[in-house]
Amino acid sequence: MERIRVIGAGPAGGAAALTALGEGAAVEIYEKSRFPRHKVCGEFLSPQTTSLLRDLGVWPAIETEAVPMREMLVTFGHRQRRARLPEPAWGLSRRRLDELLLDAARARGAAFYRERGAPGAGSQRTVVATGRHSREPKGERLFGFKAHFTGPSSDCVELYFFGEKSYLGVSPVEGGRVNVCGIVPESLLARHDFEVDAMLAGYGALAERLRPLHREWDWLHVGPVTFRAPGCEWEVREGEYRCGDALGFVDPFTGSGILSALLTGTLAGRAATRGESVAAYVTGCRRRLYPAYLASQVFRDALARGWAELFVPWIPLSWLFTLTRPRV
Ligand SMILES: Cc1cc2nc3c(=O)[nH]c(=O)nc-3n(C[C@H](O)[C@H](O)[C@H](O)COP(=O)(O)OP(=O)(O)OC[C@H]3O[C@@H](n4cnc5c(N)ncnc54)[C@H](O)[C@@H]3O)c2cc1C
Repeated sequence: MERIRVIGAGPAGGAAALTALGEGAAVEIYEKSRFPRHKVCGEFLSPQTTSLLRDLGVWPAIETEAVPMREMLVTFGHRQRRARLPEPAWGLSRRRLDELLLDAARARGAAFYRERGAPGAGSQRTVVATGRHSREPKGERLFGFKAHFTGPSSDCVELYFFGEKSYLGVSPVEGGRVNVCGIVPESLLARHDFEVDAMLAGYGALAERLRPLHREWDWLHVGPVTFRAPGCEWEVREGEYRCGDALGFVDPFTGSGILSALLTGTLAGRAATRGESVAAYVTGCRRRLYPAYLASQVFRDALARGWAELFVPWIPLSWLFTLTRPRV
C-alpha cells in the first residue's frame, strides 16, 4: 500500500488526504497549528467547490451548515453594481470547513499528527499543502484582516473596493454571522495606528454597511500577502507535490483561493498516490489556474491606475466572476 504524507490541514491538505485515501493509500497528516482555528479569509466558497466537495464525499456535511449566496454587489467609491451569481456560492467559516475535511479524513483512516511536518525521507511521497509564504520589503506590503459580526446579512456577497489597492468583503457564514474581511496596504493601516475600525470609518459606503453590525471578537490580522503565479517560483522536486497556496496565490478579491486549494489538493493527492511525475502534475495545475490568475492581475492593475471604476460599469459582472475562476 502506498504511504502518503500530507503537510498542512487547510483545504488543500484536506482534499489531498481524502483523495489519496480514496485511491487506497495510507495517509499521514501533519498540522503545526492549534486545530480547529479561525483563519483570515473571506470564507466565500465559489460555486464550483460544490462538485469538488461532493467528489470528496463531504458535501452533505458541509451543505447542512453553509449559507447560500445568490447575488454579488460590487462597490467602487460611489458606483455600485449588483448581479446574480451564475450558480449559488456558499459561506462557511474556515474553522468549520477545515475541521469537517480533517474529521472526514480521520474517519476514513488517516493518521493525524499535531506537529510540524517535513517531506518524507527516501521514496515516501509528500503533498506539500503548507499555505502561503511571503517576504516583502516594509512599506509596500499588503495585510489582511477579518472578524465575525452579528447583525443584518443577506444572500449576497458584497465587495467594496477603496483606495488604490484595498478591498473589503462582507458575506454571510453559518450561525447567522457575517464575515468581514479585507486587504489594505500597510501604509494605510499605519496612518490609522493599525486600528481597523478607525480606518474603515473613513469610507462612506463601507462605514454605512458596517454601522448596524456588532463585532464578535478582535480583528485577526495576516500578512504580508503576496500574489504568486501558480507553479512558478520554486524548484520542482520529485516526490513533492505542492498544492493550494503553496503552489501559487491568487488575489483574494476573486474568492477563488479555496476553490484552487480544493482542486489542486485533489490533483496532488491523486498524482502522489499514482506516482505521476511532479513536472506533469504542475503543468496540469498551471493550465487550469493561470488564466484566472492573469485575469485577477489585470483587474488589480486597472484598480491601482483608477481605471476599474471606469470600465466596470460596462462589463457584465458575470464575466469578471467567470474569468477569475480556475478551470475545474
Ligand atoms: C485576506 C484573505 C481573504 C481571503 N478570502 C478568500 C475567500 O473569500 N474565498 C476563497 O476562496 N479564498 C480566500 N482567500 C484565500 C484562501 O484563504 C486560501 O487560498 C486558502 O486558505 C488556501 O488553502 P491552503 O490549504 O493552500 O493553505 P492554508 O489554508 O494556509 O493551510 C495551510 C496549513 O498548513 C499548516 N502548515 C504550514 N506549514 C506547516 C508545516 N511545516 N507542518 C505542518 N503544518 C504546516 C498551516 O498551519 C495551515 O493550517 C483569502 C485569503 C486572504 C489572505
